Amino acid sequence: MSDNSGFDNNFRAIDPYVAGEQPDFPDMIKLNTNENPYPPAPGVIEASKEFEGKNLRLYPTTDATKLRRAIAKYHGIDPSMVYVGVGSDDVLSIIFQSCFNSGIPILFPEITYSFYVVWAQLYGIKYRMIPLRDDYRIEKKDYIGTENGGIVIANPNAPTSIAMPVSDVEDIIKANQNRVVVIDEAYVDFGGETALPLLEKYKNLIVVRTFSKSRSLAGLRIGYAMASPRIISAMETVKDCINSYPMNTTAIEIGAASLEDEEYFRDRIEKIIKSRDTLTKGLEDLGFKVLPSSANFVFATHPKIRASEIFAKLREKHIFVRHFNKPLIDDFLRITVGTDEQVAILLDELSKITY
Ligand code: PMP
Repeated sequence: MSDNSGFDNNFRAIDPYVAGEQPDFPDMIKLNTNENPYPPAPGVIEASKEFEGKNLRLYPTTDATKLRRAIAKYHGIDPSMVYVGVGSDDVLSIIFQSCFNSGIPILFPEITYSFYVVWAQLYGIKYRMIPLRDDYRIEKKDYIGTENGGIVIANPNAPTSIAMPVSDVEDIIKANQNRVVVIDEAYVDFGGETALPLLEKYKNLIVVRTFSKSRSLAGLRIGYAMASPRIISAMETVKDCINSYPMNTTAIEIGAASLEDEEYFRDRIEKIIKSRDTLTKGLEDLGFKVLPSSANFVFATHPKIRASEIFAKLREKHIFVRHFNKPLIDDFLRITVGTDEQVAILLDELSKITY
């Protein structure tokens, strides 16, 4: 019999990204993963009904052609500047593999989307995390004049919800033209300023977007990147080393349909922004400090009651928010903006916890 004491040495030891939980209670209020509280546009539901199952016999196109063209048309750019993936997580993961190969550390904020550090570690990319300033803002000067192998910034940032002016974003891109600068705009539709117009000027910019938040399609898994054709082709090369057909036929068809109803899209975003104001004001009335949000969530802390305690008490009531048990932010709660009704129930429960 062979000795198997070294068996565990075969496996990669790494701390993975931990996604928010997906509980399933009929009465729950789920405000923990920044999903949209409204259903996708009616045209999306129709498209999914009309979808012809017989087409599933065939492989999809390798570049999700129909969806890629629809996204390019929506933004008024050439399809050669669009890359489509299985959620922006997939797109970002491909970017990390294809664009950060200089051997010099890449830069991203110390408090940001916690997947960035996981990809850097997984792919052996050197990195340096830059602290936020005292008011939880990203300071552009911290990304200018420092040698780096690339930069990743979520704008608005997560989980802080704070947006950076696009003029600051441009200064960062301009000062790092020999490196790729990724602007993750997962939440930009809720009030941030997009860097998209800068694509005409800068070959080193990648703007990443998702259908998961503002388009209410987290379950379909669609994300995309927009960048110069040189960058997009580098991403395609890596994608073709991993999976020729990452996008499935259903996502391609339904995703393309979801870009057609602009009025519904704008209307729901407006509703969410209004509910965000109600939520922010309600939290402040209960003594919370709430960071200024440009996203579909708020980041709030209470001066007297621990965030972990509030989190646990809400959870008992089947109200789910997000608590990160991490230094610097462990006294904050990230709360997704729900419907007005959900916001009212949440505030009512919080008033009992904080009184
Ligand atoms: N970027 C940021 C900043 C996010 O918060 C998220 C959501 N977890 C993503 C990217 C990934 O979203 P998705 O894969 O659903 O497009």
